[in-house]
Amino acid sequence: MTSILEHPRGAEPGKPGDRKEFSFTNKTRLSNTAEGKGRDGARYGRTGVIHTPHGDIHTPAFVPVATQAAMKAVLPESIKDLGAQCMLSNAFHLYERPGADVLDEAGGLGKFMNWDKPTFTDSGGFQVLSLGAGFKKTLAMDVTGMKSDDVIAAGKERMAFVDEDGVTFKSPLNGSKHRFSAEISMGIQHKLGADIMFAFDELTTLMNTRRYQEESVERTFRWAKRCVAEHKRLTEERVGKPYQALYGVVQGANYEDLRRHAAEQIASLDFDGVGIGGAIEKRIIGDTCAWICDAMPENRPRHVLGIAAVDDIFACVENGGDTFDCVAPARCGRNGAIFTRHGRYNVKRAEFKHDQRPLEEGCDCYTCTHYSRMYVDHLLRASEMNGFTLATIHNERFFVKLLDDIRASIDGGYFEEFRDETLAHYYENGSKG
Ligand SMILES: [Zn+2]
Repeated sequence: MTSILEHPRGAEPGKPGDRKEFSFTNKTRLSNTAEGKGRDGARYGRTGVIHTPHGDIHTPAFVPVATQAAMKAVLPESIKDLGAQCMLSNAFHLYERPGADVLDEAGGLGKFMNWDKPTFTDSGGFQVLSLGAGFKKTLAMDVTGMKSDDVIAAGKERMAFVDEDGVTFKSPLNGSKHRFSAEISMGIQHKLGADIMFAFDELTTLMNTRRYQEESVERTFRWAKRCVAEHKRLTEERVGKPYQALYGVVQGANYEDLRRHAAEQIASLDFDGVGIGGAIEKRIIGDTCAWICDAMPENRPRHVLGIAAVDDIFACVENGGDTFDCVAPARCGRNGAIFTRHGRYNVKRAEFKHDQRPLEEGCDCYTCTHYSRMYVDHLLRASEMNGFTLATIHNERFFVKLLDDIRASIDGGYFEEFRDETLAHYYENGSKG
């Protein structure tokens, strides 16, 4: 058997990557209803398969985040064992350290981190732009009473400045000055070599004014056109590599007209898929997906960037999201927060010190089939790395399985029942997130 890591599909010596090796196959679509948020009651939720040079992704799918080409405390072998189909890394962090050339020398992100399945990199725009305001890395924002283009988190120095051509910023690692633009981001992401990349976009916050959002959407469109052109040039130039797919990102904050306009702009360009990005208020997260899908061709996969909560996942799946990345399972797990079908709890609470049950009864993950709450509680209190490992494995499995179960429910024709039952159980104890 040939290894897909050594011989990705569509990579021939001396030739540009074969674009036919990236495609999306529709399987089951949710039926339209009177409450459907899309045009004429459309519900864009669906199952399908994203075909990439490093294998297939059955969607809807959860995408674990390996920010610096690593999931903290968990080897890729374990991520594979818990059923993940793909991973997402961060172009900005890998550009800063170890540098895109290092991953290029290694044969790309997958080979570098010994992961033989599909990979994603984000454009770096999110990290670069969030330096601008010093915001927390969250998309769900409380906007009450705030409206300003200059809001900076207290005690934070503004570290990024946007102009027509790109962004200038100071490295959070060592304070050195750097520049990101459409062309620079494409150059970095081609060297990183992920199967799926994102166009460089401007991230705004819900605190920016309407006028600024309008300007930003137009600027992101101009950058998107430059990304497509540079991506085509690099694909032709870098022969012998597998084709890397490029997704355009739709911004527009919480304005319906801006989101629709931005979606039409992105749909008009020769992208392979779409990223639903930027700040979105939780209450309209499903609507936002539907507005964007109204403009998108069905054959382009849709990635929802940086999702945070179980109910948001259901809303986004129902309205057309195919893949979802989220740092919460790992980040929360390291703090002792455990995701279960009956909500989230903290395993470091005193009551679990003598609890011999697994983190979640009935869970099939490696942690739950081998270890107890009392042990994980001890490890986390003692700051033992194994505690991070065990908690992360369980939480990642929770989200991977959630999306697997949602997929089965769409194919099986019982999505609504599954959604209602899952959300009722998950939030029955007042769980957040
Ligand atoms: Zn488990």
